[in-house]
Amino acid sequence: MIARVTLEIALRKEFDYLIPPELRAQVEVGTRVKVPFGPRQVMGCVTALVEESPRTNLRAILKVVGAQSLVTPAILKLARWIADYYCCPVETALKSVLPEAVRKEEAGWRERLFARALPLAGDLPRLTKRQQEVWNIIEEWREMSLQELLNLADTTAETVRKLEDKGLVSIGPQISERDPYAREHILPTQPLALNAEQAAALQKIKAALDSKEPSTINHQPSTFLLHGVTGSGKTEIYLQAIARALQQGRGAIVLVPEISLTPQTVERFKARFCSGPLQTLVAVLHSHLSAGERHDEWHKIRQGRARIVIGARSAIFAPVDPLGLIVVDEEHEYSYKQEEAPRYHARDVAVVRGQMEGAAVVLGSATPSLESFHNAQKGKYALLQLPQRADDRKMPLVRVIDMRQEARKEKGTPIFSQKLKEEITLRLERGEQVMLFLNRRGYATSLQCPKCGFVAECPNCSVALTYHRSRQRLLCHICAYEAQAPTLCPDVKCRNPAIRYAGLGTEKVEDTLTKLFPRARVRRMDSDALKRKDDYRRILGDFRTGKIDILVGTQMIAKGLHFPNVTLVGIIYADLSLHQPDFRAGERTFQLLTQVAGRAGRGEVEGEVVVQAFTPFHPAIQYARRHDFAGFYEQEIEFREQLKYPPISRAALLTLKGRNEEKVKFSAAHLRRELEKILGSAAAPAAAVDASSTAKDGDEAPSPARASARAPRKNLSPDLIIAGPAPAPLLRAETFYRYQLMLRTRQMSKLSRLLANVLETLSLPEDVSLIVDVDPVNLI
Ligand code: ADP
Ligand code: ZN
Repeated sequence: MIARVTLEIALRKEFDYLIPPELRAQVEVGTRVKVPFGPRQVMGCVTALVEESPRTNLRAILKVVGAQSLVTPAILKLARWIADYYCCPVETALKSVLPEAVRKEEAGWRERLFARALPLAGDLPRLTKRQQEVWNIIEEWREMSLQELLNLADTTAETVRKLEDKGLVSIGPQISERDPYAREHILPTQPLALNAEQAAALQKIKAALDSKEPSTINHQPSTFLLHGVTGSGKTEIYLQAIARALQQGRGAIVLVPEISLTPQTVERFKARFCSGPLQTLVAVLHSHLSAGERHDEWHKIRQGRARIVIGARSAIFAPVDPLGLIVVDEEHEYSYKQEEAPRYHARDVAVVRGQMEGAAVVLGSATPSLESFHNAQKGKYALLQLPQRADDRKMPLVRVIDMRQEARKEKGTPIFSQKLKEEITLRLERGEQVMLFLNRRGYATSLQCPKCGFVAECPNCSVALTYHRSRQRLLCHICAYEAQAPTLCPDVKCRNPAIRYAGLGTEKVEDTLTKLFPRARVRRMDSDALKRKDDYRRILGDFRTGKIDILVGTQMIAKGLHFPNVTLVGIIYADLSLHQPDFRAGERTFQLLTQVAGRAGRGEVEGEVVVQAFTPFHPAIQYARRHDFAGFYEQEIEFREQLKYPPISRAALLTLKGRNEEKVKFSAAHLRRELEKILGSAAAPAAAVDASSTAKDGDEAPSPARASARAPRKNLSPDLIIAGPAPAPLLRAETFYRYQLMLRTRQMSKLSRLLANVLETLSLPEDVSLIVDVDPVNLI
């Protein structure tokens, strides 16, 4: 018997190894093995068992690692699909289907010592300063390896033993279950009686779960797009659909964006399934778990003890078996796309996995992606709609303020329009809460010298540095470069002391607020304000309990949060996201406005939204104002159709990067010629790859995308469009110059195969690398 093995060192290949007789019983597809490779021993994963090998002189597997094969055949198949579709080596795909903590484990892990915080009974006993420091860390992490704790606290095991003596910490070799939510007490909930629309939607999902035939036979799609406004009761449908899957003896995966994976979200699922006849463990997978916790959660699933998994992007690979249902909540969220290889989109992987394993898939959103809604229109997905809020609350009133007029009135652009100031005042008087939203952190977006024109730029990236006043630093938001904020113009010939800070960030909004409303309690929530692991939870807790009147934040506060006392939401610059060189700019703006507006009026009092904009009549803003998704979709899809952009086509973005701009440029031109040779397309001339969405309302410059659409076509891929090479919108990032080509086609799997060939044969200069991004989300 011979095992075909992928190795954990990036080689686009598999290797054959003999299975020694004594290991024969243990080796199966998915088994992790240690094998000789040259002079080294490396870890690998068995991907197939074969009778014969084209090679001779095979070496033998050295040992089997781990008792249970970690990668199930189903997940292995999924990893192969990812490698093919997203054009990456199988090992790269395999790396992402197993959490690092699980992949790295050796037989010896059980012997390591672990320290865990015990629940406090009463007050914290007296501690020395040293002990207190250690306790602070362990309390925050709940559980960690002793070694990790000693490193982090820079202390000795002796100190930790003292805490053990005081009954605060337990130290033990045995990794009993680590439950990240162990200390929470959760009250069970019962299914709610559904309203008519919810019932109709659930009934269709249940029908798909009940049908034993694969969807290809009965021609009924088993992927659903659940389009329901915020608060329409989508989560209740997920819960009841999961209950059905459990009744059938199958499990479920629920994907939520990392940022909305809050304890409240998890609690809703635990509360429904932590007791009763369907009782099962709910496993949680996200990036804030300790390695140990992730390891345990994963094994709970693998052993079938947890049949429900809630997690962020990578939870789509959870080894739930058999799998009945996959839910992707907020399916339009861009964080489902992984921005490093394998560059998969978890929503799309979910749909593929559902088909492979005969599971129903429910994609839920208040603002579906154009991709998913298009699929629903074509009948690929079944569309389920919940047009009303479940609690009969009205949608908030949205007012758009024309900031151009405000600027005229005030002789200069104010941060707050008259209207917004009045509305805030009113809320403060009534003791209600306000959320203000600006998708840009820092104080000012650039430092300029009005005399000589100097602008402080990042030495590594082609962007201006952002001024962060609280720290008196200039910061690059791309590469995190930092510099002291100067007090004079840094140009030696100028030295003007009257340098200016232009543009606006959350820090300045906060600052201006405290001046305008000195008695209001204002807090800012963006990644700068969150220093410690639990800051996020703490600030939200303070807001919930009314210790904060006005919360200012970036998109971090836009997602899935529910505060009944928030009756006003203000959006400082609604069109900020419109001015991006990205064909999805309009879609993003619409989604953002709708999500943010959904934060207002979730309690007894009706909510109101004030949207400040410099282009108040842009369709993305106007349709969001009227809560009109269908209207937005209609006009947006027309624009995509004209330019042959996704979802009309599928795209692959090829980015070349290197430190020498000329070489990168040259390589990009070379790549284009190679592509033309193999793909046989006479596509568009070199031009910019992106088209901003403003192109559609009367931008006179000839759009490259338009030109491409008209380009003559040849056969091999009849609809292939090649645009570029062109400099990336952000030409230089982290010291690398980048040039891009964008390919668009309706047949991406075919293109992926051809691209894989091109990658095989393409020779690039050593210091130029190529990134292939299929179905790209980030074009900058
Ligand atoms: P979504 O996930 O669409 O934002 P939720 O499922 O969170 O909506 O529902 C919003 C609120 O309405 C929640 O407080 C939920 O408990 C309540 N709700 C949902 N469905 C019903 C129902 N059928 N009857 C009464 N209340 C409901
Ligand atoms: Zn930078």
